[in-house]
Amino acid sequence: MAEIKKLKAAKLMKKVMADHFYEIDNAVKAGSPKVAWCTSVGPAELLRAMGFVVYFPENHAAILGASRAATDYIPAANAIGYSPEICSYLTADVGAYLKGFTPLQKIYAGIDSIPKPDVLVYNTNQCRDVKDWFMWYARRWNVPCLGIESYVNVGEVTDTHIKGIAGQFQKLAADIADATGARLDSDKLEETVELSRKCSDLWREVLETAANKPTPLTFFDGTIHMGPAVVMRGTPVANEYYETLLAELKEWVADGVSAVDGEKHRIYWEGMPIWGKLRENAELFLRLKTAVVASTYCNSWIFSALDGKDPWNSMARAYTELFIVRDDAFKEDYFLRMKGLFGYDGIIFHDAKTCPNNSNCRYGLPQRMLEKHGIPFVTIDGDLNDLRCYSEEQAITKIEAFVEQLGDRR
Ligand code: SF4
Repeated sequence: MAEIKKLKAAKLMKKVMADHFYEIDNAVKAGSPKVAWCTSVGPAELLRAMGFVVYFPENHAAILGASRAATDYIPAANAIGYSPEICSYLTADVGAYLKGFTPLQKIYAGIDSIPKPDVLVYNTNQCRDVKDWFMWYARRWNVPCLGIESYVNVGEVTDTHIKGIAGQFQKLAADIADATGARLDSDKLEETVELSRKCSDLWREVLETAANKPTPLTFFDGTIHMGPAVVMRGTPVANEYYETLLAELKEWVADGVSAVDGEKHRIYWEGMPIWGKLRENAELFLRLKTAVVASTYCNSWIFSALDGKDPWNSMARAYTELFIVRDDAFKEDYFLRMKGLFGYDGIIFHDAKTCPNNSNCRYGLPQRMLEKHGIPFVTIDGDLNDLRCYSEEQAITKIEAFVEQLGDRR
C-alpha cells in the first residue's frame, strides 16, 4: 500500500493550532481579552480589530468529525429537537456540549471545554444553520448573538449587494460595541484586513501548486493544512505558516515529488469532506493512482477581494463573492475555470445529506457539466460528520468504476 506523504510543515501547523486553542482558553480563564465566536466565513477581521480572540465552532465540529466522535453525539441534539436532517456540525457540536465532551480535552492538556464567549457573531452567507447553532448557545449562556444576513443565489455581485452588506458590517461593529463594550480600532481593521488578504493570497498559491503535474498536494492534504487559514487569518502567524508550507511545496515541485505516485488521473472534489473517512479516502485514491487536485471546499478560504485600504467594502465583497453564495450559472463557469487551471479529468460530487448548501448535485448541475462541457462526474452519498449517512462500500464501488471510466475515455 502506497503511503500518504507527509509535509514537514505539518509539525508547525500542529503548533499553530495548539497556540490558537491555548490563547482562547487562557483568555477565558483570565477573563481577558474578550472571546468572540465566529462562523468560518464570518467577519473574523472585524472581531480581531475589536480586540477579541476568535473561536470557530465549525473547526471544532470538524475535529469532532475527524476524530469519529461526531456520530455518537448527534442523537443528544436530536433529542432536544434538532433534526438529524440538519447540519451535522451543529448537531454534533451541540450534542457533544450537552454530554460534556470535547475532543480538545484529549488533544490539548488542560483544556476542559469549549470556550464560553462574550459574543457570538455569524454570517448567513453559508447557511441559516450557523445562526440557529449560535442562537442555541446564546440562549443557553445568555450571551448576545449578532450577525450579518447575507444574500443567497447571487449571480453578478453588484454595488447594491456591496452597499447593503458593507452597511450591515458597520452596524454590526456598533452593535457589538454596545453589547460588549469592545471598541473598534480602525487602524487595526485596515491592518487585519491586509493580513487576511495576504493569508488568502498565500493559501491560493499553496492550492495552486496542485496545478503541477504530478501534483505535490491533494484535497485531503488541503483539508488539514487549511486550519490556519480558517482560524488564524488576519494574524501574522497564519501568513508565516503559509510561507513555510509554500516553500516546501515549491521544493517538492522542483524535485518532482508527487503526492500520488504514478499519478494517472486528476479529479475535482465538489462538496464537503467526509471528515471521519479522510485517511481511508486518501488511501483509496492513492491505490487508484488518482490525485484529487482541487476542491471548492479548500478554495472557500480564498478572499481575493480583501483590501486593507477599503476594509468595509472589500469585506462585504469578499464575503459575498464566495462560491456558496452564488447561483448555478456562476458555479458552472467556476468549474470550467478550475478545469482550465488544474486540468482535472472529472468531478466527484459529494451529496452531503445534512448540508444541502455544499451539495451542488441536486439541481442538475453535474448533468449540465457533462452535457454542455463533456466533463464526466460521479455522485457519492455521504455526510461531513454523520457517518450513518455514508456507505463506504457503495462509495468505493462508485469511485472505482468512475476512475476506470476515466481510463477508458483516455
Ligand atoms: S455550510 Fe453546511 S456544513 Fe457548514 S455550517 Fe452550514 S449546513 Fe453546516
